[in-house]
Amino acid sequence: MNFDFIVVGAGIAGASAAAELADGYRVALIERESRPGYHTTGRSAAVYLKSYGNAVIKAMTAASEAFYHNPDKGFSEVPLLHPRGMIMIARQDQLHRVEEELTPVLPFVADARRLDGDEIRAFVPQLRKDYVAGGFLDPQAEDMDVDAILQGFLRRFRKRGGQLLTDSELTGLEAEDDGWRMTTRGGELVAPVVINAAGAWADEVAKLAGLDPLGLIPKRRTAFIVDPPKDTGCAGWPVIADIDEQFYFRPESGGLFCSPADETPSPPCDAQPEELDVAIAADRIMKALDIEIRHIRRSWAGLRTFAPDKTPIVGFDPRARGFFWLAGQGGYGIQTAPAMAALSAALASGTSQTRIAGDIVEAMNPQRLIDSR
Ligand SMILES: Cc1cc2nc3c(=O)[nH]c(=O)nc-3n(C[C@H](O)[C@H](O)[C@H](O)COP(=O)(O)OP(=O)(O)OC[C@H]3O[C@@H](n4cnc5c(N)ncnc54)[C@H](O)[C@@H]3O)c2cc1C
Repeated sequence: MNFDFIVVGAGIAGASAAAELADGYRVALIERESRPGYHTTGRSAAVYLKSYGNAVIKAMTAASEAFYHNPDKGFSEVPLLHPRGMIMIARQDQLHRVEEELTPVLPFVADARRLDGDEIRAFVPQLRKDYVAGGFLDPQAEDMDVDAILQGFLRRFRKRGGQLLTDSELTGLEAEDDGWRMTTRGGELVAPVVINAAGAWADEVAKLAGLDPLGLIPKRRTAFIVDPPKDTGCAGWPVIADIDEQFYFRPESGGLFCSPADETPSPPCDAQPEELDVAIAADRIMKALDIEIRHIRRSWAGLRTFAPDKTPIVGFDPRARGFFWLAGQGGYGIQTAPAMAALSAALASGTSQTRIAGDIVEAMNPQRLIDSR
């Protein structure tokens, strides 16, 4: 089968980029699993945070905001974002970190503000008085409906004539005069351009094309849900995060979503939670919050995959014609997806203008990692 673009990986990155490209091109989206979003995309904390990540992430998150607040007609029946708020908390010995963290946030979240311990406890009275000394509030943090977002992109992709091929692991990638011949479990596909949106496996896909990997590091992050503190509703709480990213928690489905914010390097795999990481998170959270964590309702883990400089990789690989990277989204792949997809479609097709500033686009160019190896 012949296409203009073949996108490898139907997580949020591949699905959103494929949907953009399908507007005018013949696009196949191939996925190894039987359903899109099975890996990292289906396992996130689902928080839209303009105050999170480095300057490139903040720029791409801000550039995605208009779409998330006001998606095109027919994209979704339900709102994609819901107000939540987030408070970074600090103990007495961490208080010096508050200004450090707050300052770079202000250009993106003008109403972010410092809070003292009592002000924080007005939001979450169960936070321990002898633990929380201060912090800051990001009032613009929002919950994302990740399933609605992913399904919206997939619906748009199909509507534009794109072909989603599940149970179709890419196993071979051969350069030919006019593009790539790809072997999948479902058959052979040919296209001049392949978009590598394989998440934790993106370096493996590069190897199939005969390219040296770029040094992506998948890092496991654990999450679990527990009952809320006894006799309290927690549905209205903001996200509460330790200022040194040692834990965070937020309301979810009538319970409390918790994470130790772990970043354990892992080979690409179907990540599973470790009991020790769950216990570490429970212990840290019980020190900060008046809660007895006895029963874990559900736990899971996913791989957040980073480039060595923690900046995503977006652009053509200068070593192989028609090989395009869309990888290394780390812990920010959902909140940046609309802008990443639009930029990838513009760069890969070479036809349209991008709204993203030149220095941000350049910071994501794969060339930087090839030069530094
Ligand atoms: C606990 C946790 C919390 C997070 N919280 C947030 C958050 O609050 N906000 C946020 O924005 N982000 C968050 N993230 C990060 C976010 O989930 C990721 O950045 C994003 O999902 C990455 O999407 P992806 O499409 O690149 O990867 P994936 O969703 O992993 O998709 C890659 C796909 O490629 C497929 N694939 C791989 N190799 C092949 C092959 N050879 N052939 C065919 N298919 C292949 C895989 O099967 C997979 O489906 C979190 C992640 C975790 C784990």
